[in-house]
Amino acid sequence: MGPRVVYRTRHRQPRACARYSAAVKAGNPTLSSYGTTIFEAMSALAREHAAVNLGQGFPDDRGRLDLRKAAADYVIDGHNQYPPMMGMPGLRQAVAAHDKRFYGLDVDWQTEVLITSGATEALLDCFLGLLEAGDEVVLLEPAYDTYAPVIRRLGVVPRAVRLVPPTWSLPRDELAAAFSPKTKLLVLNSPMNPAGKVFTHDELTFIASLVQQHDAFAVCDEVYEHLIFGTARHIPLMTLPGMRERALRIGSAGKTFSVTGWKVGYITAPAAVLRPITKAHQFVTFTTPPNLQHAVALGLGLDDSYFHGLGAPLARSRDRLASGLASLELPVLPCDGTYFVVLDVSRWLRPDEDDIAFCRRLVVEAGVVLIPMSAFYEAGPPRHLVRACFCKEDATIDAALQRLHSWVAKHR
Ligand code: PMP
Ligand code: GLN
Repeated sequence: MGPRVVYRTRHRQPRACARYSAAVKAGNPTLSSYGTTIFEAMSALAREHAAVNLGQGFPDDRGRLDLRKAAADYVIDGHNQYPPMMGMPGLRQAVAAHDKRFYGLDVDWQTEVLITSGATEALLDCFLGLLEAGDEVVLLEPAYDTYAPVIRRLGVVPRAVRLVPPTWSLPRDELAAAFSPKTKLLVLNSPMNPAGKVFTHDELTFIASLVQQHDAFAVCDEVYEHLIFGTARHIPLMTLPGMRERALRIGSAGKTFSVTGWKVGYITAPAAVLRPITKAHQFVTFTTPPNLQHAVALGLGLDDSYFHGLGAPLARSRDRLASGLASLELPVLPCDGTYFVVLDVSRWLRPDEDDIAFCRRLVVEAGVVLIPMSAFYEAGPPRHLVRACFCKEDATIDAALQRLHSWVAKHR
């Protein structure tokens, strides 16, 4: 099973290439085989068609003014040269204190915390630092789009296990069968983009037992850790018995403080496990902008009420969007966390139309951007599901619903 070439924006390769007559060798074939990410491609389409963008996951909310001011002031008054490679002490201490406050984890900020340029870099560093060609990695699909390409680029084999919609249940036998003596690590994303699933204690216990049986690591992408709804509870896999020494926890300021462009991420991991990952970081970016680190440290120190208050407004937005969609015969799957709901578009698919063609048509005909779920599968994806982002102001959600309403009225 090889990588699929799924997405091509309409943009061609820069024409400048054509100006050079000498032949050049091909770039890396694995990465060359992937198109532009679906998020970038669909946001470009949104701009082109002046569409309401419920595609790429970024909030309308501009983030807290106090944190934005702290970041701005630090550029003027602070130190703008390279900060320490592992991250500024104040932020590493804040990450360790946050791990203790919310999850009871005892973390040594000096040896067990690494600051990165977003969770994206954190994931890359973990893969570079832990994996070798020939290893295997267990992924749960639908899987965030950066995992598999990077894993493949390292000569590592992804073993994908598909959660079963509509409830995204975990097929335990298949998961157990995906592990082998070559399994180096499992990637767990909970709360899960795009499924909106928050793994339960029971599921996590099962996953932890497999990871331990196979003496593997668990790279836990927990960027939506505070974006959970209702009675759902986020439990880091790292807190389960036997997992402290083999789990790595990744967080992102982008999601926790509604500043997705800041790209400040943090990894918590046992010192010995973190050491090679730190080497990856030092050769990939080395550091992350100091003013943003400073502001994120202040953010992580905010009262509990800030973090506990993140879910309720998002859940209201989810419900506003979901009830509008349901009335348009676009039923929404359950969602306990993240910025995203998945909807079933079967009723509106043309014969032979897949989710990608549907989303492209919707931009042109309705002026609304959604994300085809096949972006999150390596092969044989479901073709009737699409993702909608609801971390938006009421006016944005209402505008999207209004446009879909007019579109449905024409097509019913
Ligand atoms: N993991 C998941 C599941 C995501 O949705 C995202 C996008 N925010 C990332 C990682 C990347 O986070 P960052 O923007 O901090 O690099
Ligand atoms: N995490 C964001 C999403 O899932 C996208 C980030 C990106 O554009 N690479 O929509």
